[in-house]
Amino acid sequence: MARRGNLFIVSAPSGAGKSSLIGALLKDKPADMQVSVSHTTRAPRPGEQDGVHYHFVDKAAFEALIDQGAFFEWAEVFGNYYGTSRVTIEQTLDRGIDVFLDIDWQGARQVKALMPEAIGVFILPPSREELERRLNSRGQDSADTIAARMADAVTEMSHFNEYDYLIVNKDFDTALAEFSAIVLANRLHLAGQKSVHGDMLDDLLAG
Ligand code: 5GP
Repeated sequence: MARRGNLFIVSAPSGAGKSSLIGALLKDKPADMQVSVSHTTRAPRPGEQDGVHYHFVDKAAFEALIDQGAFFEWAEVFGNYYGTSRVTIEQTLDRGIDVFLDIDWQGARQVKALMPEAIGVFILPPSREELERRLNSRGQDSADTIAARMADAVTEMSHFNEYDYLIVNKDFDTALAEFSAIVLANRLHLAGQKSVHGDMLDDLLAG
Protein backbone atom coordinates (compact mmCIF):
# COMPACT_ATOMS: atom_id res chain seq x y z
CA MET A 1 0.00 0.00 0.00
CA ALA A 2 1.26 3.48 -0.80
CA ARG A 3 2.09 5.89 1.97
CA ARG A 4 -0.33 8.79 2.44
CA GLY A 5 1.45 12.14 2.28
CA ASN A 6 2.14 14.13 5.45
CA LEU A 7 0.57 17.52 5.91
CA PHE A 8 2.98 20.19 7.19
CA ILE A 9 1.70 23.48 8.56
CA VAL A 10 4.43 26.10 8.37
CA SER A 11 3.96 29.41 10.17
CA ALA A 12 6.23 32.30 11.09
CA PRO A 13 6.17 36.04 11.49
CA SER A 14 7.06 38.03 8.41
CA GLY A 15 10.86 38.35 8.41
CA ALA A 16 11.61 34.88 9.77
CA GLY A 17 12.47 33.50 6.31
CA LYS A 18 9.55 31.11 5.93
CA SER A 19 9.00 31.56 2.18
CA SER A 20 12.73 31.25 1.48
CA LEU A 21 12.98 28.04 3.52
CA ILE A 22 9.97 26.45 1.83
CA GLY A 23 11.29 27.61 -1.55
CA ALA A 24 14.72 26.10 -0.88
CA LEU A 25 13.27 22.81 0.35
CA LEU A 26 11.25 22.44 -2.85
CA LYS A 27 13.82 24.03 -5.17
CA ASP A 28 14.42 20.90 -7.21
CA LYS A 29 10.68 20.21 -7.48
CA PRO A 30 10.72 16.82 -5.70
CA ALA A 31 7.87 14.64 -6.96
CA ASP A 32 6.82 13.80 -3.42
CA MET A 33 6.49 17.35 -2.01
CA GLN A 34 4.18 20.19 -2.95
CA VAL A 35 3.30 23.62 -1.55
CA SER A 36 -0.39 24.32 -1.38
CA VAL A 37 -1.42 27.37 -3.43
CA SER A 38 -3.90 29.37 -1.35
CA HIS A 39 -6.75 31.59 -2.47
CA THR A 40 -6.52 35.21 -1.41
CA THR A 41 -8.37 38.47 -1.85
CA ARG A 42 -5.20 40.54 -1.57
CA ALA A 43 -3.84 42.15 -4.71
CA PRO A 44 -0.88 40.46 -6.43
CA ARG A 45 2.53 41.95 -5.64
CA PRO A 46 4.94 42.65 -8.47
CA GLY A 47 6.20 39.35 -9.87
CA GLU A 48 3.42 37.25 -8.34
CA GLN A 49 1.53 35.03 -10.77
CA ASP A 50 -2.06 33.85 -10.48
CA GLY A 51 -2.16 30.11 -9.86
CA VAL A 52 1.51 30.00 -8.88
CA HIS A 53 1.88 32.15 -5.76
CA TYR A 54 -1.84 32.39 -5.02
CA HIS A 55 -5.20 32.03 -6.69
CA PHE A 56 -6.17 35.70 -6.68
CA VAL A 57 -9.93 36.19 -6.32
CA ASP A 58 -12.24 39.02 -5.30
CA LYS A 59 -14.14 39.11 -2.03
CA ALA A 60 -17.44 37.92 -3.57
CA ALA A 61 -15.75 34.90 -5.16
CA PHE A 62 -13.97 34.08 -1.89
CA GLU A 63 -17.23 34.30 0.07
CA ALA A 64 -18.94 32.03 -2.47
CA LEU A 65 -16.16 29.46 -1.93
CA ILE A 66 -16.67 29.72 1.85
CA ASP A 67 -20.41 29.06 1.37
CA GLN A 68 -19.66 26.04 -0.81
CA GLY A 69 -17.44 24.60 1.93
CA ALA A 70 -14.50 24.66 -0.49
CA PHE A 71 -11.94 25.62 2.15
CA PHE A 72 -10.12 23.28 4.48
CA GLU A 73 -9.34 26.40 6.52
CA TRP A 74 -9.58 30.11 5.92
CA ALA A 75 -8.81 33.27 7.86
CA GLU A 76 -8.65 37.01 7.62
CA VAL A 77 -5.01 38.09 7.82
CA PHE A 78 -4.00 41.78 7.76
CA GLY A 79 -7.40 42.75 6.28
CA ASN A 80 -7.50 40.17 3.47
CA TYR A 81 -8.98 36.71 3.22
CA TYR A 82 -6.74 33.68 2.73
CA GLY A 83 -7.86 30.06 2.38
CA THR A 84 -6.68 26.54 1.58
CA SER A 85 -8.67 24.43 -0.88
CA ARG A 86 -10.00 21.23 0.69
CA VAL A 87 -10.16 19.03 -2.44
CA THR A 88 -6.63 19.81 -3.59
CA ILE A 89 -5.13 18.97 -0.19
CA GLU A 90 -6.98 15.66 0.15
CA GLN A 91 -6.19 14.55 -3.41
CA THR A 92 -2.53 15.44 -3.10
CA LEU A 93 -2.11 13.63 0.23
CA ASP A 94 -3.90 10.57 -1.23
CA ARG A 95 -1.28 10.48 -4.00
CA GLY A 96 1.42 10.07 -1.34
CA ILE A 97 2.71 13.61 -1.71
CA ASP A 98 3.73 15.67 1.34
CA VAL A 99 1.88 18.99 1.34
CA PHE A 100 3.20 22.22 2.86
CA LEU A 101 0.73 24.84 4.02
CA ASP A 102 2.25 28.31 4.37
CA ILE A 103 -0.48 29.69 6.62
CA ASP A 104 -0.91 31.81 9.74
CA TRP A 105 -1.67 30.66 13.30
CA GLN A 106 -5.44 30.99 12.81
CA GLY A 107 -5.37 28.59 9.88
CA ALA A 108 -2.97 26.29 11.74
CA ARG A 109 -5.46 25.95 14.60
CA GLN A 110 -8.25 24.98 12.21
CA VAL A 111 -6.08 22.41 10.43
CA LYS A 112 -4.93 20.84 13.72
CA ALA A 113 -8.56 20.57 14.86
CA LEU A 114 -9.60 18.86 11.62
CA MET A 115 -6.48 16.76 11.14
CA PRO A 116 -4.59 16.26 14.42
CA GLU A 117 -1.87 14.28 12.64
CA ALA A 118 -0.86 17.38 10.65
CA ILE A 119 2.65 18.46 11.64
CA GLY A 120 3.11 22.04 12.79
CA VAL A 121 6.44 23.76 12.17
CA PHE A 122 7.05 27.26 13.52
CA ILE A 123 9.97 29.35 12.31
CA LEU A 124 11.42 32.09 14.51
CA PRO A 125 14.00 34.80 13.87
CA PRO A 126 17.04 34.59 16.20
CA SER A 127 16.40 37.85 18.05
CA ARG A 128 14.17 40.88 18.23
CA GLU A 129 16.96 43.07 16.85
CA GLU A 130 17.49 40.80 13.86
CA LEU A 131 13.76 40.64 13.18
CA GLU A 132 13.54 44.43 13.24
CA ARG A 133 16.49 44.64 10.89
CA ARG A 134 14.87 42.15 8.47
CA LEU A 135 11.53 43.96 8.61
CA ASN A 136 13.30 47.17 7.71
CA SER A 137 15.65 45.71 5.14
CA ARG A 138 15.01 48.45 2.61
CA GLY A 139 15.70 51.04 5.32
CA GLN A 140 13.07 53.35 3.86
CA ASP A 141 10.07 52.81 6.08
CA SER A 142 8.77 55.08 8.80
CA ALA A 143 9.16 54.18 12.48
CA ASP A 144 5.36 53.73 12.66
CA THR A 145 5.34 51.26 9.77
CA ILE A 146 8.13 49.23 11.33
CA ALA A 147 6.45 49.32 14.74
CA ALA A 148 3.21 48.03 13.14
CA ARG A 149 5.11 45.20 11.41
CA MET A 150 6.80 44.30 14.70
CA ALA A 151 3.44 44.22 16.49
CA ASP A 152 2.03 41.86 13.81
CA ALA A 153 5.14 39.69 14.11
CA VAL A 154 4.82 39.49 17.91
CA THR A 155 1.16 38.45 17.59
CA GLU A 156 2.11 35.64 15.20
CA MET A 157 5.09 34.54 17.36
CA SER A 158 2.94 34.40 20.50
CA HIS A 159 1.39 31.21 19.06
CA PHE A 160 4.64 29.24 18.65
CA ASN A 161 3.59 26.93 21.47
CA GLU A 162 0.76 25.47 19.39
CA TYR A 163 3.20 23.79 16.95
CA ASP A 164 5.14 20.52 17.06
CA TYR A 165 8.56 21.76 15.89
CA LEU A 166 10.47 24.99 16.28
CA ILE A 167 13.20 26.20 13.94
CA VAL A 168 15.30 29.25 14.80
CA ASN A 169 16.46 30.75 11.53
CA LYS A 170 19.78 32.30 12.51
CA ASP A 171 21.85 30.63 9.81
CA PHE A 172 19.83 29.80 6.67
CA ASP A 173 21.62 26.56 5.74
CA THR A 174 21.32 25.22 9.27
CA ALA A 175 17.62 26.09 9.37
CA LEU A 176 17.11 24.39 5.99
CA ALA A 177 18.87 21.23 7.19
CA GLU A 178 16.66 21.24 10.28
CA PHE A 179 13.54 21.66 8.17
CA SER A 180 14.60 18.73 5.92
CA ALA A 181 15.27 16.62 8.99
CA ILE A 182 11.75 17.23 10.27
CA VAL A 183 10.28 16.17 6.91
CA LEU A 184 12.45 13.05 6.75
CA ALA A 185 11.81 12.02 10.37
CA ASN A 186 8.08 12.19 9.78
CA ARG A 187 8.40 10.00 6.69
CA LEU A 188 10.14 7.38 8.79
CA HIS A 189 7.35 7.35 11.34
CA LEU A 190 6.20 3.83 12.17
CA ALA A 191 2.63 4.06 10.82
CA GLY A 192 3.78 5.25 7.40
CA GLN A 193 6.66 2.77 7.21
CA LYS A 194 4.30 -0.10 8.05
CA SER A 195 2.02 0.80 5.16
CA VAL A 196 4.92 1.15 2.70
CA HIS A 197 6.83 -1.93 3.82
CA GLY A 198 3.91 -4.20 4.73
CA ASP A 199 4.93 -7.08 2.45
CA MET A 200 8.57 -6.88 3.47
CA LEU A 201 7.61 -6.91 7.17
CA ASP A 202 5.36 -9.94 6.65
CA ASP A 203 8.20 -11.69 4.87
CA LEU A 204 10.79 -10.83 7.52
CA LEU A 205 8.55 -12.01 10.33
CA ALA A 206 7.26 -15.18 8.65
CA GLY A 207 7.80 -18.12 10.98
P1 5GP B 1 1.26 37.36 2.30
O1 5GP B 1 0.12 38.25 1.96
O2 5GP B 1 2.45 38.10 2.82
O3 5GP B 1 1.59 36.41 1.17
O4 5GP B 1 0.78 36.42 3.51
C1 5GP B 1 0.34 36.98 4.71
C2 5GP B 1 0.09 35.88 5.74
O5 5GP B 1 -1.02 35.07 5.32
C3 5GP B 1 1.25 34.91 5.91
O6 5GP B 1 1.45 34.70 7.31
C4 5GP B 1 0.79 33.65 5.26
O7 5GP B 1 1.35 32.50 5.86
C5 5GP B 1 -0.69 33.72 5.52
N1 5GP B 1 -1.44 32.88 4.59
C6 5GP B 1 -1.18 32.66 3.27
N2 5GP B 1 -2.07 31.79 2.74
C7 5GP B 1 -2.90 31.43 3.76
C8 5GP B 1 -4.03 30.55 3.85
O8 5GP B 1 -4.44 29.88 2.89
N3 5GP B 1 -4.62 30.47 5.07
C9 5GP B 1 -4.20 31.17 6.16
N4 5GP B 1 -4.85 30.99 7.31
N5 5GP B 1 -3.14 32.01 6.12
C10 5GP B 1 -2.50 32.14 4.93
